[in-house]
Amino acid sequence: MHVQQIINSKATSDVITVKLGSLVSETAKILAERRIGAVVVSNEGTTVEGILSERDIVRELARSGAACLSFVVDKIMTKNPVTCLLQNSAEQVLQTMTEGRFRHMPVVENGKLIGLITLGDVVKARLSELAMEKDALEGMIKGF
Ligand code: AMP
Repeated sequence: MHVQQIINSKATSDVITVKLGSLVSETAKILAERRIGAVVVSNEGTTVEGILSERDIVRELARSGAACLSFVVDKIMTKNPVTCLLQNSAEQVLQTMTEGRFRHMPVVENGKLIGLITLGDVVKARLSELAMEKDALEGMIKGF
């Protein structure tokens, strides 16, 4: 299974982005309203300047208190996040996420942002692939 299939299996390929200079408070509101765990920080919607996850906000809240809500995202985002390609395998992505201890990866094609996959997307797609393989194997065994 490749990233392309995981992207195809998602209800929407839209990526929620915020621009450099956006406030952490505005971004926290977007995360809550859209029920997502991270946004890509992108000035054009196609570039990947950084990623801001709920974990970055919680970490900064612990460090600076509520004052961090008026910071710009640039200050606490992870710059130049690790990205993946449509042709990368689910196993490669799972390994990268596990080793890097993050749950989100922007998907890029020709250097442009075209999607975002989460650990949950990869696990869900892999489980459904395993269930199909199991059904096919059972069918073959019963068929003989
Ligand atoms: P997450 O588990 O994805 O919510 O993020 C945990 C931490 O990893 C946060 O500090 C994020 O900014 C950072 N992070 C999230 N995604 C990536 C990525 N693709 N590459 C590098 N760092 C990331």
